[in-house]
Amino acid sequence: MKILDVVKYLDQLIPAGYQESYDNCGLQVGDTSAEVTGVLISLDLTEAVVDEAVETHSNLIVTHHPFIFMGLKRIDADSPAGRVIYKLIRNGIAVYSAHTSLDKLSDGVSAQLAKRLGLSNLRVLAPESDSLKQLVVYCPKEQSQQLKDALFAAGAGNIGNYRHCSYSVDGTGTFEPLQGANPFIGTVGNDTATAEERIEMVYPKAFEGKIVAALLSSHPYETPAYSLIPLSNTNPDVGLGMIGELSEDVDIEEFINKVKQTVGIPVVRHSELCRKTVRTVALCGGAGAEFIGTAVGQNADIYLTGDLKYHDFQKAAGRIVVADIGHYESEQFAKEFFYDKLSENFRIFAIRIAKTETNFVGYM
Ligand SMILES: [Zn+2]
Repeated sequence: MKILDVVKYLDQLIPAGYQESYDNCGLQVGDTSAEVTGVLISLDLTEAVVDEAVETHSNLIVTHHPFIFMGLKRIDADSPAGRVIYKLIRNGIAVYSAHTSLDKLSDGVSAQLAKRLGLSNLRVLAPESDSLKQLVVYCPKEQSQQLKDALFAAGAGNIGNYRHCSYSVDGTGTFEPLQGANPFIGTVGNDTATAEERIEMVYPKAFEGKIVAALLSSHPYETPAYSLIPLSNTNPDVGLGMIGELSEDVDIEEFINKVKQTVGIPVVRHSELCRKTVRTVALCGGAGAEFIGTAVGQNADIYLTGDLKYHDFQKAAGRIVVADIGHYESEQFAKEFFYDKLSENFRIFAIRIAKTETNFVGYM
């Protein structure tokens, strides 16, 4: 089993196309042709994590936060980042990261926290508005099912809890093959009219490359006619944060204590407790201050996230309870996500969650 096999699996599970424009998800360092000896999972990459990978003979480290984020101008073994890269390369260790791409999955970072807090009826808090597109393609009727099957397999035609969604209408296609053409129907120099099916289906923009490749390889024409159309529909399955409900009203202080226990934090900073009880809970793993208004708009009683500033608490006052539960603490279950998914799919090498602590924030 090569590192490339694991990378391909992770790329498919957590499409890099979902990542924010500033992000750098995917393979960070490494030779994907090497055999996998073991996988070590961590929220962040530190030198101590690399040492743990060496000790446990793990030559692939999977992290949530990309180690190479804003770019590197030089790899200097005297700098902390350069030293880590030298150590990785000397020991033949690859690093793969899934950051905002994982944040945006409906079973990603925020959903992992929501499940541990006992929330049900989970929905994406801030669904993406520009991540869906529509494909229109014209195909002879006899070959249309094989084309649809290839497009479905590449990730087109999924809407909510439905798959294989498409719409078809019959019509007539016209064309004249020119010199050099090798037409599937008709002959060079002659106008042709033929029965065709117009097929429409939605798809996530993140899968476009794969879907167009599937179209070109499974369509019978050497030059298929197709359109890729942007949609303004929101994608309910992709976006940041989650919202859901507790099974009953819970006293606000009791709920905040439960959150502290669940994420393992000794204190939380919170805004004015303007609710006595909590039922609808919104949350966003990591730094999610920008979604306070979204949580208010969806009538959440409380909003949990990390990295809140003084004026974020002021903005929430009287409208919703906000609580800063820590950046690391709110994202830590990403490690279990990687562990569970990799363990389900790969059984021939060891998969470990790093014992090295990578929370850069302490409490006393
Ligand atoms: Zn983060």
